[in-house]
Amino acid sequence: MPLTTSVLPDIVGGMADFSTPMMRQYRSIKEQYPDCLLFYRMGDFYELFNEDAHVGASVLNITLTGKAGGKDGRIPMAGVPYHAVDNYIAKLVKAGYKVAICEQLSPPNKKGLVERDVVRIVTPGTLLDENSLDKKANNFIVSILADDTSVAFSIADLSTGFFAVSEGELGNINKVLIEELLRLQPSECIVPDTLYNDTEFLKLLRGVKEMNIYPSTSFLNYNDAKRFLNKHFGVKTLEGFGFTNNSLGLNAAAGLLSYLKDTQKGELTHIKKLSLYKKDDGLTLDRSTMINLELFSTIREHDTRGSLLSVMDQTTTAMGGRLLKLWMKKPLIDKKVIEERFDALETMGSDSTKRSNLVTLLQEIPDIERLLSRLSVNLGNARDLVNLKLALQTILECKKILGSFQSKGSLLYKEATNISSDLKKIITLIDSVIVAEPPITTKEGRMIREGVDEELDTLKNRINKSKEWIIELERTEKEKTGITSLKVRFNKVFGFYIEISKSYLHLVPPTYMRKQTLVNGERFVTEELKEHEEIILTAEEKINTIEYKIFSETLTKILESTESIQRAAESIGVIDCLTNFSIISERNRYVRPKLLYSGEIRIKGGRHPVVEKIIEDPFVPNDVTLDNVSQSLLIITGPNMAGKSVFIRQVALITLMAQMGCFVPAQSAHLTIADRIFVRSGASDVITSGLSTFMVEMVETAHILHNATSNSLIIMDEIGRGTSTYDGISIAWAVAEYLVKNTKPSPKVLFATHYHELQKLEDEYPKQIKNFHMAVTDEKGSPIFLHTLLPGGASHSFGVAVARLAGIPEVVIDKAQEMLQTLEYRNVTEKGKIYQEFSPLLDASLGDRLLHKELENLDIANMTPLEALNKISELKDKLKIITSQHSAFVDAD
Ligand code: ADP
Repeated sequence: MPLTTSVLPDIVGGMADFSTPMMRQYRSIKEQYPDCLLFYRMGDFYELFNEDAHVGASVLNITLTGKAGGKDGRIPMAGVPYHAVDNYIAKLVKAGYKVAICEQLSPPNKKGLVERDVVRIVTPGTLLDENSLDKKANNFIVSILADDTSVAFSIADLSTGFFAVSEGELGNINKVLIEELLRLQPSECIVPDTLYNDTEFLKLLRGVKEMNIYPSTSFLNYNDAKRFLNKHFGVKTLEGFGFTNNSLGLNAAAGLLSYLKDTQKGELTHIKKLSLYKKDDGLTLDRSTMINLELFSTIREHDTRGSLLSVMDQTTTAMGGRLLKLWMKKPLIDKKVIEERFDALETMGSDSTKRSNLVTLLQEIPDIERLLSRLSVNLGNARDLVNLKLALQTILECKKILGSFQSKGSLLYKEATNISSDLKKIITLIDSVIVAEPPITTKEGRMIREGVDEELDTLKNRINKSKEWIIELERTEKEKTGITSLKVRFNKVFGFYIEISKSYLHLVPPTYMRKQTLVNGERFVTEELKEHEEIILTAEEKINTIEYKIFSETLTKILESTESIQRAAESIGVIDCLTNFSIISERNRYVRPKLLYSGEIRIKGGRHPVVEKIIEDPFVPNDVTLDNVSQSLLIITGPNMAGKSVFIRQVALITLMAQMGCFVPAQSAHLTIADRIFVRSGASDVITSGLSTFMVEMVETAHILHNATSNSLIIMDEIGRGTSTYDGISIAWAVAEYLVKNTKPSPKVLFATHYHELQKLEDEYPKQIKNFHMAVTDEKGSPIFLHTLLPGGASHSFGVAVARLAGIPEVVIDKAQEMLQTLEYRNVTEKGKIYQEFSPLLDASLGDRLLHKELENLDIANMTPLEALNKISELKDKLKIITSQHSAFVDAD
């Protein structure tokens, strides 16, 4: 689109000359935003200059131009049209740049330099453009502060008004902070310079993928921070929000809010409360557990299809979609609250007609949280108001249905009461002021209804009269002059004119004044036409000003009710999630779990919620019982493809779904609430962070061993697989042993492995460890997987047979079979050598001698009674192992 000289008087003849007033203005503004790309508005374009232009050209793939620039030489320049600017900004921001938008603040058609200033800064965490944001995901921004002993963070979603701060001191930065950040996946993080320059800390933060980290000077000292927050929330003390004396956290919150205000150049009235973000107020899922359970996307394809979310998310509103994700990231641990959700599902399930009416209404509700945010930072328009009105009307309809469920005191009732009847006032206000179909611009009128403002109506009448006169003019002039092709038209450059084609020019009356010559005719004006044009144009200008004023006043009144609108939006999110749970539970035959305090998990006919949907064969349900005492760790063996991974994950998923408040895929489920679910997969090959797969596996295993409690549910899939067989078995053995020995009562553990050696653990810990296997039958050497969990260990690996099923060429299979036999033979003989060393039966004196020597060397005088007891137990174990190994060797032989 060309730049028209009429709107750009100040740049004509000196486009990028830094000696011109305009470029001096550019430079002084740019100096205030050195860390941003400055989008400098020039008429219909936003221009980038110098280094910014190079960045813009390469990231946005736009043409880099340049202008001779006086003494500054040639100045690189690149521009984007104003109407498409949101897309360009989003692209730059996603690439990690900050964009400062510099607008023209005075009307461009007056002589002299147009006033300009930055009206908004867009950063990854402050994007508000609807099309650039994922409708069903939050866009979080965090601020972090640390002192010698602790670290605090604050978190916000500007697009919804969410604002929270970590409670107290978080302690170990490494573990807690990073874990929370990985879970929340913020798109932006601001830290003070001191932290930004701390390379160790920065390295830690960089581990949070897709989070842009910027240094910021918005952090204040403690007293200023407190004052700043008090002023924003209009309170004298923050105690009402639950704060007592939390200096670091409050500083982090104030720093973040101040940064957000700086970027929006506004008051952010939609940020109404500061919540306390507690790290342990829900079921904790670490990042690798979320990945291994494929909650949000699959491990292999990184696809949302095949994830738990894809099965559980049939929500229809953006609020519901976002909330469901949060519920999945942090399920509940409070039995009462979980039961409340179960009750709500039951109530909804009891009246499917009402429920489907509710869904129909929910489907019509737009993203009012983000709509409200845009309105609050002055990015909204009259059409948004109309949408808000329609949304509120629908929300009140929802309230009616919720009320009719007759469940006083229930969650549905609570959510219904959260929707205030006062919303009617907003509906009436918008309805009485704004027309049904206003335009998207707010500066060109056509928004305000008749009868709202007398002056406005008078001006509109005047315009209408003049317009009628002009329409009439065409008819009367045709008659008067006899020119049948005479037309009265309007364009933006010349205003109203009378157009006469060439062949009739001789009939033009003398009162007509020539304005423009065309190829086929000429354009004229008359004195009278000019007068009416003047009336129309001045009236229009006034109308636009008055309409904008009324729009702004209406908006201010609406924003006074921000809190009730936000509360209603939150309730709609909850209702949407519950309706969704109720529907998927019915559709997928889920049952209401019974929550226990006993420490047990008893699932009958449990199914994997995702696998049962995607496989072609019927899913085989399985039963399982786990407790803290007599059966806390199950060793599950069976060949590859037998269904071990599916089974152990399904137990975790059933627990997780229940704690989200949803019914579960099972015939019946008795569940003890878990405080943490850990899922570690030795076969996972996707976690790349500069560490080898095995190292990652071990780091994660260490994390589990350090953090599991008696109430945790631990899923170990093929642990120790990333190293050599003997290493792997030894590590797996020791890990399993630690899990049953170290915490009392022990956590509940499902331990899938193809190391059959681990089955011996059952003999060592008969009280806690039990062997199970996935049943497989053998048909002419080919395994048939039954996917059924049975007591006892598996005896056969079927590895080569599975390879055949996978389509490995027959020659390779034959060779593998041959190798297997050789290896099995060698293994037996190698074992022989080892056992020869230890086995008292092969070399009767050697075993005796070893134990004898150990006994002799004991320094009893320096041992505590407990150490002595432990030693005796160890010697007994050794004796047992030597004996059992010997007999295993003899068997194998
Ligand atoms: P493993 O971990 O023992 O190697 P998986 O758990 O990965 O085996 O299961 C392999 C495949 O078997 C799955 O992808 C699925 O198609 C099928 N499967 C597993 N469990 C069941 C089941 N209970 N019912 C039906 N099919 C199953």
